[in-house]
Amino acid sequence: MSEKIYIETYGCQMNFADSEVVCAILEGAGYKLSPTIEEADFVLINTCAIRDNAEQRVRHRVRELRALQGRRHRLRIGILGCMAERLQSRLMAEEDNVSFVCGPDAYRRLPDLLRQVRDGQQAAEVELSTTETYADIEPVRLGSNGISAYISIMRGCQNYCAYCVVPYTRGRERSRNPQTVVDEARSLFERGYREVTLLGQNVNSYQWKEGENEVGFPELMARVAAIDPALRVRFATSHPKDLSDELLQVMAAHDNICRCIHLPVQSGSNRMLKLMNRKYTVEWYLDRVEAIRRYLPDCSITTDVIAGFSSETEEDHQATLDLFRRVRYDYAYMFKYSLREGTYAARHLPDDIADEEKTRRLNEIIALQGQIALENNRTEVGREYEVLVEGESHRSKERLFGRNSQNKVIVFDRGDAVPGTYRMVRVVDCTAATLLGELVGSV
Ligand code: SAM
Ligand code: SF4
Repeated sequence: MSEKIYIETYGCQMNFADSEVVCAILEGAGYKLSPTIEEADFVLINTCAIRDNAEQRVRHRVRELRALQGRRHRLRIGILGCMAERLQSRLMAEEDNVSFVCGPDAYRRLPDLLRQVRDGQQAAEVELSTTETYADIEPVRLGSNGISAYISIMRGCQNYCAYCVVPYTRGRERSRNPQTVVDEARSLFERGYREVTLLGQNVNSYQWKEGENEVGFPELMARVAAIDPALRVRFATSHPKDLSDELLQVMAAHDNICRCIHLPVQSGSNRMLKLMNRKYTVEWYLDRVEAIRRYLPDCSITTDVIAGFSSETEEDHQATLDLFRRVRYDYAYMFKYSLREGTYAARHLPDDIADEEKTRRLNEIIALQGQIALENNRTEVGREYEVLVEGESHRSKERLFGRNSQNKVIVFDRGDAVPGTYRMVRVVDCTAATLLGELVGSV
């Protein structure tokens, strides 16, 4: 009888996409996906190392699983992804109920690893690759709504932002063959999916070369968008230093490329941006925001920001708040700086802002952003949007939710709307996080 695997995923969208590749590799090797953790022979935990609290959450989970191992002696636990790459065998020494670790470029070796650990040994595969893109693997769509899916178009990162562990855990940047990306998107569309999100740490530097042939990100987007006007195309993440006018022009030329750009700023102070090695200035960033507004007046802009990076002063922090007031983001992921071993900052820049001070600055940014998001949403009341209906609202079966092109969630009375189709919805009210609407007819 085939052995069963169960996978849990922490962290970013790339990790969720990777877990789908892992399942495809293991299914191909004869393993079955277990619907519940209790029946599994192997529990795989796909991990994030971006901040210390992400790692602590995983360690807590691993310790919690001891109880299950006590009842199920066959059960083996493996750690995949960024934490596996960062800590390697050390992780198995520190968490002795973990049997194997496997880094993000070694997933093809998982069937071998599972065989090795079956008889009680420990095993580690953490070699990084300069070429692996898993381009030939058709991911198993996990927990999918059958409507939206992620497609990984590149792996790795070599921007070496001073605070960031990703270049060490995910290796050199490499792009995937564009034809395989287009084929995967087309196959999803033919199976009823209506939205794909193209993923990479810095999608703007996507570059595929084969002989004389070169394909950059704008062309890849145009090719995916040409599959069908009813397929929405999203992408993440854009590094501000590489956001080109050419990409904005391609977006403007295709209504089905969604009007939402995630443009992580990290700080509103030029001194901080330089220390962070972000390779742009506040002026450059604002110029890119202005270009977005020019080409795509209805585009939403979202961001990431870090509070309390090395030597950040009150003045630097105020500059971040000022930038938030100028750009007026629709959404922001906001973090306290967390020192990561092995990064440039860990080696050269002291983690010298007290935790309470980081928290205070973070809370100020969160409060300001909450107010801006609410004000932005209030201006939406009365507007009509084409919404891709995704499913039932969490609060009530009588209501459905979907998202507009700008990636804003809209909740509305279900009427005759069906998930997986497009409907026009008029916004009638809002909170800072959600728009409330009513159906205005079919598209
Ligand atoms: N590649 C993307 C980029 O450059 O914007 C994002 C990568 S990272 C997974 C997501 C976000 O985590 C970053 O944009 C940054 O705001 C945050 N982050 C990365 N390292 C961090 C650290 N050491 N402490 C706190 N936040 C961090
Ligand atoms: Fe990390 Fe910077 Fe690469 Fe983003 S671009 S993954 S923040 S090193």
